[in-house]
Amino acid sequence: MAAMAAASGTYGLVIGGREEPGNRGETRGVLNPATNVPFAQVAVADADDARRAMEAADAAFRQSGWAADDGARRAKALLSLARLLEEREEAFARLETENMGKTLREARVDIGFVVRTLEYIAGLADKIQGETIPVPGSRFDYTVREPLGVTVHIAPWNYPLLLAMRSVAPALAAGNAVVLKPASLTPLTAIAIARLAHDAGIPDGILNVVNGPGGAIGEALVRDPRCRSVSFTGSSEVGLRIAEIAAGRLLPVTLELGGKSPVLVFPDADLDRATRGIALGIFGNAGQMCWAASRLAVHESVRDALFERLRKIAEATKLGPGTEDGVEMGPVVSRDQEARILEYIDAARQEGGKVVAGGGRASDPRLAAGNFVLPTVVADLPASSRAGREEIFGPVLSAVSFTDTDDAVRIANDTTYGLFASVWTRDLATALTVARRLEAGMVSVNEPPITFPQTPFGGFKQSGLGFEQGLHVVESYTRRKNVVVNLGAPKRRT
Ligand code: NAD
Repeated sequence: MAAMAAASGTYGLVIGGREEPGNRGETRGVLNPATNVPFAQVAVADADDARRAMEAADAAFRQSGWAADDGARRAKALLSLARLLEEREEAFARLETENMGKTLREARVDIGFVVRTLEYIAGLADKIQGETIPVPGSRFDYTVREPLGVTVHIAPWNYPLLLAMRSVAPALAAGNAVVLKPASLTPLTAIAIARLAHDAGIPDGILNVVNGPGGAIGEALVRDPRCRSVSFTGSSEVGLRIAEIAAGRLLPVTLELGGKSPVLVFPDADLDRATRGIALGIFGNAGQMCWAASRLAVHESVRDALFERLRKIAEATKLGPGTEDGVEMGPVVSRDQEARILEYIDAARQEGGKVVAGGGRASDPRLAAGNFVLPTVVADLPASSRAGREEIFGPVLSAVSFTDTDDAVRIANDTTYGLFASVWTRDLATALTVARRLEAGMVSVNEPPITFPQTPFGGFKQSGLGFEQGLHVVESYTRRKNVVVNLGAPKRRT
């Protein structure tokens, strides 16, 4: 690919296999959230660039042979992409850390997950098949699964490459041509992986990346007549808007949206393990996780013991730039996000919550230039309060106690969301009966939020529609066609 000067930290739009500055030549500085200093420049697309990306994808879909080829060829290309990424794992992890703020350790896990996703999905690319169906008379009936055409993928900023590629990979495996719009705050790794596509054997125009504001560019992509499906990961608010637009054209959508996920701790739980799991589930990625376990409900008999452990772990968490050794929590992604989280903490105080740990910005003067919010635990926040109900998307845990199992399940399900829930208990019957009663697309028992490329990821209620990952995900990027053939032969008995 004719790349723009990668070494100078300039990132373009990737359209039709070429990296280019975009129609208006507009660029934006990309900030490091640990310092708020720009470290790269990125091209910003306008509506005409979005249209050109859709055109390029459509042309490649029709002309490159990607869709018509044996799935094994697509599998090879995805495996090559996995290898190319793996060889550059450290560079991609550093780029993710610099751009998004997460610790290098977290970023390495993310990039490893993308490599593993590409490998897993590559294994499915030559297993997309239909069925034969017995029908009356002298007929032969079969189904085929065809790619959809141009698929649009809109990604958020909290796991920039991981969440982009978890829908892009299956769409490519099924033979589609992709247009990806990363979040404006974190577009760099998506552009960097598109630079590898040609060498991986993915035809030019099959993987396009356009960076630009969601409201203008995201909507332009979804409204483009060539768009055949939308995979959106982001807020429930924007997800609903996309669903409305897509409904007008009967476009299939996969929506991975927000959450306010409960974690239930029963009296027999291993409290030390639970404490570590709860901390990971809300302070990991500085709490910027769709499935952050942000609402703790603990049995009243172990409430004080657990709160004390949580206070200690929150206060011991080492904050700092994600690239620094020993740092356990990086900055949040932007000043705006920091302000939003701090505003929720203030609201929690006003709404009757008692701050057990944290409760504001980090006071360490060395962190003053970055967006550092302390790991925060707020106790006894009423469920009806704004901070208790709405997704904060930061390192803020709201904690209440319950009296019995029915009470715990009621608290857990008392939310408009339904992405994830976790249960901590040593009792198998409690674990399994509670898991059955939880209204969440994913439940973990004695585990913090954890997922694998082979396990489905999706939410109930306002948390989404459809799923990503798992054995059946490639089907979401195909359409089913039934073919009936009249054999014209006389009816036979045997
Ligand atoms: P966001 O909804 O603001 O933006 C997500 C993406 O949509 C970005 O690329 C943005 O530019 C684009 N966008 C914004 N407005 C648009 C519009 N009108 N039309 C088309 N595209 C538009 O979300 P965010 O702030 O980037 O991410 C945080 C949210 O994402 C949280 O709510 C979080 O829970 C959710 N999330 C969900 C999952 C999941 O798998 N369920 C994973 C990660 C994040």
